[in-house]
Amino acid sequence: MGKNLRAKMFLDMKQKELFRQVQSYAFDYADRAFERNVFPTGEAIKDLDQFMEDLPAGEGDASEILAKLHQYGSPATVSQTGGRYFGFVTGGILPVSLSARWLADVWDQNTALYAMSPLASKLEEITEGWLRDLFGFSDDVVAGFVSGSSSAIFCGLAAARYRTLIKSDWDVNKKGVRAAPRVRIVTSREIHSAVLKAIALLGFGTDNIEWVDTDTQGRIMPSRIPVLDERTILILQAGHVGTGAFDPFDEVCALANRANAWVHIDGAFGLWVAGSERLKNLTQGIEKANSWSVDGHKTLNTPYDNGIVLCKDKEALVQALQASGSYLSFSEDRDGMLYTPEMSRRARVIELWAALKYLGRNGVDELVFGLHERAVQIARELEAEGFRILNDVVFNQVLVACESDEITNRTLSHIQHSGECWLGGATWGDQSVIRVSVCSWATTAEDISRSVRAFVTAQKHA
Ligand SMILES: *Cc1c(COP(=O)(O)O)cnc(C)c1O
Repeated sequence: MGKNLRAKMFLDMKQKELFRQVQSYAFDYADRAFERNVFPTGEAIKDLDQFMEDLPAGEGDASEILAKLHQYGSPATVSQTGGRYFGFVTGGILPVSLSARWLADVWDQNTALYAMSPLASKLEEITEGWLRDLFGFSDDVVAGFVSGSSSAIFCGLAAARYRTLIKSDWDVNKKGVRAAPRVRIVTSREIHSAVLKAIALLGFGTDNIEWVDTDTQGRIMPSRIPVLDERTILILQAGHVGTGAFDPFDEVCALANRANAWVHIDGAFGLWVAGSERLKNLTQGIEKANSWSVDGHKTLNTPYDNGIVLCKDKEALVQALQASGSYLSFSEDRDGMLYTPEMSRRARVIELWAALKYLGRNGVDELVFGLHERAVQIARELEAEGFRILNDVVFNQVLVACESDEITNRTLSHIQHSGECWLGGATWGDQSVIRVSVCSWATTAEDISRSVRAFVTAQKHA
């Protein structure tokens, strides 16, 4: 083996130099994060060809590798950590959360079992309690720390599947889905595609969904929900990916509870609203659901990738995600793998714990409400410039349109090429729209006004 690989001492002097080198690159990048082009220039993208080479035969020089990564990688990043990225629904990063992750990365903990990381186990237990507290959930709610909402939705619906089938004495782990009693899936036409993916992965089949109509904001209409029963899994959402709207949980969960149906709430970015005194009326009644999924990496601004499944039925979640082996020693303490699909897993709870410890209850309120204020600001300023706002801005999402689809699409394309800010497009109803998602703590009132100027300039050229 080569000289670097043979070094016995973890991070000897020479290797520490590598970390100092990369630290200086990171700081260099961060210093310009707020001013650089939000989307990389054509030149920066073209330069990615510098990475195209055959797998090297021999050992490389570590310092040169990092230098190359910074030289060609940094300029080609999309600046999601600055204040003017409004694409999809992507959060920025709280510095304390990112730096906690740097340390955790050096620890390189595998969090499958308590025996593998008592530290991660403890922080998972504590963070689970904080989340219950923040969201207003009962003491029996457990949490699994996964890569994001796609995974968390899958886990919640897997628990729902296990519980719903066991009511008919059908252990889906052993007997499978092929001949299983029917499970009904009821959800709205505006549910996120990550839910549909989970439905497909779990063998329910998207053709079998009982679709429910939505109102003008994309909220499920309670009057259109079919009669629910104990074989039903009902999926609701806290935060529509376009309008930001919240389903009427209080009323719908009460219906489901009476029928003994399972309710899962996809709250990828919106569940955090429950932690804001000033906005939590939007999530009223969420505690009546059975499982929930939420991201740390969106509204809470932890680094990627960070998601959480929460479930009131610990047995169902653990059974649904079970694994066993004689070498696996489950303990009296928390063994993280019981609550997640993965076995080996990094300690992603650390950056989540750090974010919550730093923000506290008031900080979460300020963060969440601040995103809302910036969304309201951009809607007002765009409206004053003659743009049309198509949704009620209840949280952080704004749908914008010009006089015609053609002008909307051309305006969007101009903005995307300007480097001033970045937004994505979509269709809402039968119209083309520009989607604004305010998700970063770093977005200031000035970032909003500057982005509005980019809209105005782009529309002039459209
Ligand atoms: C982002 C999002 C998802 C998917 O979450 P990932 O963390 O990207 O897997 C699901 N539902 C909604 C409403 C979302 O906004």
